Amino acid sequence: MRGVTDCDVLVVGGGPAGSTISALLAEKGWRVVLLEKEHHPRFHIGESLLPHNLPILARLGVLDQVEAIGIKKPGADFNSNLEVVGHHQFHFSFALDKGHPFAYEVRRSEFDNLLLRNSAKKGAQVLEGVRVTSFDFPKGSDPIVTAEDEEGRERRWTCRFFVDASGRDTLLSRKFGLKKKNRQHASAAIFGHFDGVERREGEYAGNISVYWFEHGWFWMIPLRDGSMSIGAVCRPAYLKQRTTTPPEFLLKTIALAHPEMRHRLRNATLIDNVARATGNYSYTSTRMRGERYIMVGDAYAFVDPIFSSGVLLGMNSGVLGADAVDAWLRGDRTADAKFRHFERMVDRGVKTFSWFIARFNMPGLRSLLLHPGNPFRTQEAVTSLLAGDVFRDIGARSRFWLFKFFYVMFNIKHAREAFRLWRLRVGNPRVTFAGGTTPVDTQA
Ligand SMILES: Cc1cc2nc3c(=O)[nH]c(=O)nc-3n(C[C@H](O)[C@H](O)[C@H](O)COP(=O)(O)OP(=O)(O)OC[C@H]3O[C@@H](n4cnc5c(N)ncnc54)[C@H](O)[C@@H]3O)c2cc1C
Repeated sequence: MRGVTDCDVLVVGGGPAGSTISALLAEKGWRVVLLEKEHHPRFHIGESLLPHNLPILARLGVLDQVEAIGIKKPGADFNSNLEVVGHHQFHFSFALDKGHPFAYEVRRSEFDNLLLRNSAKKGAQVLEGVRVTSFDFPKGSDPIVTAEDEEGRERRWTCRFFVDASGRDTLLSRKFGLKKKNRQHASAAIFGHFDGVERREGEYAGNISVYWFEHGWFWMIPLRDGSMSIGAVCRPAYLKQRTTTPPEFLLKTIALAHPEMRHRLRNATLIDNVARATGNYSYTSTRMRGERYIMVGDAYAFVDPIFSSGVLLGMNSGVLGADAVDAWLRGDRTADAKFRHFERMVDRGVKTFSWFIARFNMPGLRSLLLHPGNPFRTQEAVTSLLAGDVFRDIGARSRFWLFKFFYVMFNIKHAREAFRLWRLRVGNPRVTFAGGTTPVDTQA
């Protein structure tokens, strides 16, 4: 065992949330140690960003680098041939605040790598190939963190403050029994990268396409090298039926897709014949902070990839967390208020997206997404929220109530189908897949 190493803040996990909080705290002069069990660049799913990611990237000083690895995403298109038939292109430029008209699609290995290197550049000590194995919070003294490197050597740190950014590994939440499976929502996903897929034309070439199908929905995310990330998010009961390999099952699932999507894939090949599946993953934790620790990003909660909110919510919690931890380390009187603000905003982000996510397969929301009107600027308000403008109120929240009223009206119009889907949704969380709430990734 090595000797005790001291630092101000120890961060576990070098994903977007961990790299964000590390960079901002190191920039303020704190001694930050970031431990990452893998070596970047490493694979990660979650390639579609939101417009309100961009101010955070600018604040971190990496906007140019992200532009160089990404492609512009001015919006999204939604498509369905189920009971509500239609196609609609969403433009972020339609939001209430017209100043955030696009986001980027990025390969996560490149994106996460540049964020991690940026935190090292700002002064954080980044150690890769080091897995945190345990931690202890002795009353009244510094947290103690134990980790293991790739040679099996144990290492130990004491820190003044501990940040859990371990993503879906949810280190703290699992240790303290805080993790709660989402009862409103359960999903599992299967995905891969394809060559030879037809893109949208012209200015929409970078848009994400979303297609509903009988077992859930598909994403199609174009990447800069010409490939396309394609995944199906399904009810766990459907993925549980899988008897074939992940690549075979993905192709079999795509065969059930909307005809236009199948047409766009007519010359496609699954790159390296690799597909991955990830289990029933929707959860939240009963709290996000305690004495000398906070959780940021997926370490606290993750709901669902529809609406591409995970990276933004993770990075935003890193920004707010950095502000609060900095005040606490300085012994500033505002620290407690800043922690409460952090909690309120993180929960607001998760709850806002959860409302849409839980209802995504209901005919009421399908109708409003496929055939939107804009009475009282409700559509502009919803576009704002879905662009990630959820942490301030520029008039979107009051209009959101009106949108919820329209949602109920449309469900009444499609009452029979709404009832059938509601029953599926309520029964769904009882079905587990690939180890229940613990996410499991499998490869071909
Ligand atoms: C199928 C699917 C599709 C998605 N699509 C999108 C999308 O299009 N857009 C979007 O915004 N979001 C998407 N997401 C969500 C998004 O990927 C996550 O919300 C985001 O990565 C969260 O960032 P994070 O930093 O909290 O966690 P992560 O990015 O998961 O990073 C956590 C890091 O912690 C490390 N770690 C874990 N345990 C330890 C340990 N014990 N010791 C040391 N290191 C450790 C891991 O190796 C990892 O690098 C998707 C998620 C899924 C499941």
